[in-house]
Amino acid sequence: MSELAAYAVTSANSRGRRHAEERPTLRSEFQRDKDRIIHSTAFRRLEYKTQVFVNHEGDLFRTRLTHSLEVAQIARGIARALRLNEDLAEAVSLAHDLGHTPFGHAGQDALNDCMRDYGGFEHNLQSLRTVDQLEERYAAFDGLNLCFETREGIVKHCSLENARKLGEIGERFLVRRQPSLEAQICNLADEIAYNNHDVDDGLRSGLITLEQLEEIGLFARHVAEVRARYPELGGRRLIHETVRRMINVLVCDLIDTTAANIAARAPKNLDEARESPPLVAFSGEMHAAQREMKRFLRQHLYQHYQVLRMTSKARRIVADLFAAFMSDPRLLPPQYQQALGGDQPRAVADYIAGMTDRYAMKEHRRLFAVGEI
Ligand code: MG
Repeated sequence: MSELAAYAVTSANSRGRRHAEERPTLRSEFQRDKDRIIHSTAFRRLEYKTQVFVNHEGDLFRTRLTHSLEVAQIARGIARALRLNEDLAEAVSLAHDLGHTPFGHAGQDALNDCMRDYGGFEHNLQSLRTVDQLEERYAAFDGLNLCFETREGIVKHCSLENARKLGEIGERFLVRRQPSLEAQICNLADEIAYNNHDVDDGLRSGLITLEQLEEIGLFARHVAEVRARYPELGGRRLIHETVRRMINVLVCDLIDTTAANIAARAPKNLDEARESPPLVAFSGEMHAAQREMKRFLRQHLYQHYQVLRMTSKARRIVADLFAAFMSDPRLLPPQYQQALGGDQPRAVADYIAGMTDRYAMKEHRRLFAVGEI
């Protein structure tokens, strides 16, 4: 790997860990963070958490786990091209969805509604809470004791009210500074990943069609290119050839635009990169193309009646579980009862947020279905 840019995050300029630890001997600090994330329980749970489709709807749809892996590899490639810290980009990507509830955004919205009078629920903050407090792996501390820059990268957005409660992690929202360039990359790698895999999964499910997608500029351009080159091609290969071209142009545009922004601003170090306006960006044209695709997916996939049926069921399951555990905390497994510590709503939210889709459905049956144990 070529030498890192002067404004990259490194083990040497890191603000470090909350609990002092000896430096790793064979790995960088951020390789260690990445390894800790992969070994965590929350990471393994991602395999059974919904991205758009519930896990049991099909074996080939993305889950939060495969989504996170796709984000990590896109972010890593971009970081490398810009001479930024690949390990940090990978660590943030792998951790960015750890706090997601079962059933995707529907689950998070339902839990947020339940928690309205108790400080709310936000998956970004829950991801941070997972790595800072909820993982139980080390003798000397709760959580994974990750580096500041990894933790900061996980909190993509946050209200000013919450920022005030987050201490050093919340600071940048209050003083309007940016996170590291590596964290900025992860935010956009997330978008590149989900827009493209949702096109693929949407087509696979049959909920959206090629004809519909051909109305969308970015897709139309690339599917035409594939057809011109391979006139006989159809089926899955046509879709994959198109999607890989879309990912490629998005990644290349992001790298070129960001490199130009960096050249114009010329940050001399990490602090100057943080003080700059966001430097990691798409060109205006590509930003508009991404927005058009997002709008299409929202309208035709995320709000498809079959997806909404699942969504409404998910909301009811989460709301029912929350109500049951709030009305009688003795229904919680003993370790969660012990964790109540005076904040029953938060302990219940932690328990529900940690559930996989199928665990939540099973728990719902155990609590509500007569004849289940
Ligand atoms: Mg994501």
